[in-house]
Amino acid sequence: MRKAEIRREDLKPGEVLCSYCTARCCRYFALPIDKPKTWEDFDHMRWYIMHGTTSIFVDDDVWFLCVHGDCKHLQPDNMCGTYLTRPQICRDYTTDNCEYGNTGCYDKFFEAPEQLWEYAEAILPPKPQPRKKRGEVRLPSLPILG
Ligand code: SF4
Ligand code: SF4
Repeated sequence: MRKAEIRREDLKPGEVLCSYCTARCCRYFALPIDKPKTWEDFDHMRWYIMHGTTSIFVDDDVWFLCVHGDCKHLQPDNMCGTYLTRPQICRDYTTDNCEYGNTGCYDKFFEAPEQLWEYAEAILPPKPQPRKKRGEVRLPSLPILG
């Protein structure tokens, strides 16, 4: 069972920080992605976060795609259900710099495609407009008669 919050520096010898945590590190994964430079890059990223519970965040100028979702082995008591066979990445992870007590503030955070597009509009030169094909004429819209 999870204990009440504690500050890292208040841990007693032999105590484990994870027993005070809601297993924050088991509820998402994030992959570094190339920093977007073009409209096409932003369009790809816009597509990423049209899917499920995803977001994009930037920390120290590194861009990440974040996929939110609990690990299938996470137990209701916030313990790992496959501890002895957990992946290496979980074994290598330590509490030294983990997100315990982290406020979740990033340099940039996008959770909706519209936010990402607004940011692109602010930093990129205007998006080139598609050229009209020869003979293509835009017709005025007609009033709808009832
Ligand atoms: S490593 Fe950090 S974030 Fe993960 S369960 Fe332990 S205290 Fe929580
Ligand atoms: S395998 Fe265990 S330690 Fe790794 S993310 Fe899943 S629940 Fe957490």
